[in-house]
Amino acid sequence: MDIQNRASINISGKKITILGAGKSGIAVTKLIKVLNGIPFISEFKNAEINHDFQFDYEIGGHTIKALDCELMVISPGISDQIEIVQKAILNGISVVSEIEFASWFTDKPILAITGSNGKTTTTLLLHSMCESANLNSELVGNIGIPFAEKVADEKLGKINPDVYVVELSSFQLEHIKHFSPKVSAITNIQSDHLDRYKNFQAYINAKLNITKNLKESDFFIYNSDDEILNPIFQNSSENFIPFSLENETRAPFNLNNSKVYYKENETKIPLYFLNECKLIGKHNIQNVIVASIMANCFGVNENAIKDAILNFNPVPHRIEFSGNFKGVKFYNDSKATNIDAVKVALNSFDNPLILILGGKDKGNSNFYEMIEPNLQHIKKVICYGDSGLTIYNQLENFDNKEFFENFEDAIKNAIATGKSGDIVLLSPGCASFDQFNSFEERGDSFKQIVAEYINE
Ligand code: ADP
Repeated sequence: MDIQNRASINISGKKITILGAGKSGIAVTKLIKVLNGIPFISEFKNAEINHDFQFDYEIGGHTIKALDCELMVISPGISDQIEIVQKAILNGISVVSEIEFASWFTDKPILAITGSNGKTTTTLLLHSMCESANLNSELVGNIGIPFAEKVADEKLGKINPDVYVVELSSFQLEHIKHFSPKVSAITNIQSDHLDRYKNFQAYINAKLNITKNLKESDFFIYNSDDEILNPIFQNSSENFIPFSLENETRAPFNLNNSKVYYKENETKIPLYFLNECKLIGKHNIQNVIVASIMANCFGVNENAIKDAILNFNPVPHRIEFSGNFKGVKFYNDSKATNIDAVKVALNSFDNPLILILGGKDKGNSNFYEMIEPNLQHIKKVICYGDSGLTIYNQLENFDNKEFFENFEDAIKNAIATGKSGDIVLLSPGCASFDQFNSFEERGDSFKQIVAEYINE
């Protein structure tokens, strides 16, 4: 199938294989059906597929049937290194991601955010800013609603968005060809997902795909405090806009001590004062600035941007206040699944900390280096789960630590250890999959255990 020219792509009557029967795979299948194509899902797991419309599929492995197609769409959870994808490529079948595929069938403007950390918070902020400007904004992508699902709804006339606000993981940015956001951003780049990528550069390259089709009339926002991003983009053209918490940039919004401001005739006008926003930590100022610049580039006015910032509530599982028990404050940061996210959480508090680390490690993390800058206020480290012992052993220069196999035992120990004035922080630095289905489930479990104590 010829996909060279986006405008002339037509999938009607074409056989398309979808790898993976998760949410995004089912959404792609739905979009293919809406556009009169012929979908075939190939799923590795041997579990029945839940669906409320008809299509052909195979489960329990990818067979030769998956190669009987003109196009292959791969779900973000699947690596392109697996045999069936490699065979498809050898057979001359085009392979694209769900995001790329969905983007062919909408002409609505796209605002897209990627980065190692801060994607969800920034995406939700930007969506709120669009909504406060009375735009009909659809939130899609890594945030949990497949882009293909909403594009199918758009094709069916069920929705008529003014804009799509898309959160993108590095996986979703693989196999990009025409995907072209009007405004895009990379919040930061830290080593992450080294279990999937052959090296750090491969991970960076996937993220950089967000700029692949940037036109002169589009904008790209990047973090000039980031030592990986700055050298790549510092000499780019005017529509590559840097933001920084360290130096004043030519971006429309900058930080100055207690406020974020914009400039009119060299006068610095406050956009908002930091204490007016409910998000805590310096990293969240970064997220607010990125979202504000993106909204501004898209034409949203300062008042709408400000309203959204002042009314924004912290996102669950991201340094989420979870209760106070005998003067000990509990915070759930279950979404902190990499080292950098834990570092920003540690930097967000001055009180003595009891830190809970562990879960399923993603590879190559140095946990001692991570806590070292904050040693003076870390009172105890509690390690749990699959990676718990490895972390425990890495902390050989830190005395007050304990290991528990089980998550609940770890949390109960933290509760027993806490004294008035302490903070108990679940900011695990690892994925949740050894004991939970998701970081949300882990965070909910933490909140439930804490709530049981508070209500005793
Ligand atoms: P993502 O969607 O990229 O995972 P989230 O907004 O869900 O980002 O936040 C994930 C974790 O990263 C949380 O623990 C949060 O506190 C932390 N975090 C949020 N924003 C940033 C940032 N700009 N820099 C570093 N860490 C951040």
